[in-house]
Amino acid sequence: MPQPPLVFSPDPADHRLPSDTDNGLLLVISGPSGVGKTTITRAVERSIPDATFSISATTRPKTDADVDGVDYHFLTSEQFTDRIAKDEFLEHAVYAGNCYGTLRAPVEAQLERGRLVILEIDVQGAEQVKSKRPDAFGVFILPPSEDELLERLRARKRESEEVIQRRFAAAREEIARAKNNGAYDAFITNDNLDRAIEEALTLIRSERERRSR
Ligand code: 5GP
Repeated sequence: MPQPPLVFSPDPADHRLPSDTDNGLLLVISGPSGVGKTTITRAVERSIPDATFSISATTRPKTDADVDGVDYHFLTSEQFTDRIAKDEFLEHAVYAGNCYGTLRAPVEAQLERGRLVILEIDVQGAEQVKSKRPDAFGVFILPPSEDELLERLRARKRESEEVIQRRFAAAREEIARAKNNGAYDAFITNDNLDRAIEEALTLIRSERERRSR
């Protein structure tokens, strides 16, 4: 009996991984620093099996809490500029004096697999993403109050008072902008971490459910 020829099948369905799905979603999570957004983002990543966190590139100095290649890809200004020139970013922005950007290729590869891709980015980046991909789902995390936010920034003991004040000023502007720029589909107030995580999970699951119908 002649054997059928071995051919490479171009159908991606033949090359699926166990975590691949049919309903990819580009999720943008923003919020001022100190609002608990990283904790919420990482909890979402752990709780949704096909979720994948997009590791941004940045020129900001690495802190003791950061792991290179896990939290960020830490780049020099020259490396960052080179990647802009090569059009490798889906979006990029300057935040509090440092460059941050999302690399396009890994995001697109994961979306093609039907994954939930999480971008934890600032308001300027979210605006760029929303204009390039209007189907992105934007969630903005709010602090219970501005006073509370300032307290949380100080409690992290991560930066000098000068840096804290710079981040606090940026945060106030960010909140005002987020409420008016149309880049966000939902707002979550983080007055209680567990509750905020639950709210984020419910929102994301129902959005995917709605889109798969
Ligand atoms: P941090 O220095 O505290 O890690 O981040 C500062 C701000 O930059 C945060 O609001 C964070 O969400 C944002 N950020 C992190 N990665 C990116 C990115 O790839 N693009 C943009 N536009 N903002 C980012």
